[in-house]
Amino acid sequence: MDFESFFGNKLDALREEGRYRVFAELERHAGDFPRATRHAGGAKGEVTVWCSNDYLGMGQHPKVLAAMHEALDRCGAGAGGTRNISGNTHDHVLLERELADLHGKEAALLFTSGYVSNWTALSTLGSQIPGCVVFSDEGNHASMIEGIRHSRAEKRLWKHNDPRDLDRLLSEYGAGVPKLVAFESVYSMDGDVAPLAEIVEVAERHGAMTYLDEVHAVGLYGPRGGGIAEREGLMDRLDLIEGTLGKAFGVVGGYVAASARTCDFIRSFASGFIFTTALPPAVAAGARASIAHLKQSPFERARHQTQVRRVRSRLETLGIPVMPNRSHIVPVMVGDPVKCKWISDTLLDGYGIYLQPINYPTVPRGTERLRITPSPLHSDADIDHLIGALSDLWSRCAMARAVA
Ligand SMILES: *Cc1c(COP(=O)(O)O)cnc(C)c1O
Repeated sequence: MDFESFFGNKLDALREEGRYRVFAELERHAGDFPRATRHAGGAKGEVTVWCSNDYLGMGQHPKVLAAMHEALDRCGAGAGGTRNISGNTHDHVLLERELADLHGKEAALLFTSGYVSNWTALSTLGSQIPGCVVFSDEGNHASMIEGIRHSRAEKRLWKHNDPRDLDRLLSEYGAGVPKLVAFESVYSMDGDVAPLAEIVEVAERHGAMTYLDEVHAVGLYGPRGGGIAEREGLMDRLDLIEGTLGKAFGVVGGYVAASARTCDFIRSFASGFIFTTALPPAVAAGARASIAHLKQSPFERARHQTQVRRVRSRLETLGIPVMPNRSHIVPVMVGDPVKCKWISDTLLDGYGIYLQPINYPTVPRGTERLRITPSPLHSDADIDHLIGALSDLWSRCAMARAVA
């Protein structure tokens, strides 16, 4: 086989569909969030980033940086191996304690990313529990889908955010069948929020274990940043809460928080935990400082919501179509991959605004969009500039506006 031309043809097909991904080359400036330098073909320019998942700018918070510098100087660069072989570093143990406390659970278990935590925990639970059936929300993230697939457990998809459909599917199985209900609190692309109380109620009625991905909610919701489950007073009714250290907490890593026995079970049977090098101690220390700060500081969360509301209402006033939701994610609907990419390229080249287009397969075809993630560190002037640019471009590509 001619591998090179095979790869080339496949890539050309992606380009023709307008969904070939080009990544901007950026250098973020510590202390100057959301500003970054963009490198393009030898040239450099300043841009304002509007699509970061470092939702609160914690990746540059002085307390986080100080904790990372301190741990780096104390422990060196890497963890030195898998925890199985090289032992637990002290910083991992402290971070897992912090995470267990954040979610009101007995224990937590760290992974190298949120993706790995979902993939590993779901594939371990689904494969190790005999006859387990996994009930997965149809909007679940790729990391959950892949973990469930790898477990080879029977999988049933329930309609997105629909507790009645979940109830209907669960009712098809007898009381003796072990059931696992997997879902998210805030969905990344539409920014919609799951009806947690109703889902938990249905799962409890069927004796199912609940597995909640709070990746887009930890640090951002609840009085201590414990997520939507904390805000709704439901943490103790969820069996397992999964989260990331890479988005609102601004560092990298993933985890699950659950009973001591659930965590010990996953730790003991999960290939994706056992056979991979642990996170660097400095990463663990930085994440712990970020969580500890956001547990006691409501300031970032409040300002975050204010700036989100401001962006959303300005867009609505101009009639630019925004998908309604009750979260911090502002999806501006374009509905065409080529226009979506053109708007994004023009924002970058003409306005110094970095807003990555979101195309298929991340979202269904025909729902291509710009996913705006305002932060507490975007100023009102930044918002004015963004809104002005979007308004210009909406007129230039003759796109429909909603009647305001
Ligand atoms: C980003 C994401 C993950 C993966 O988390 P990482 O720490 O980035 O690997 C898991 N679940 C959802 C819903 C996500 O959006």
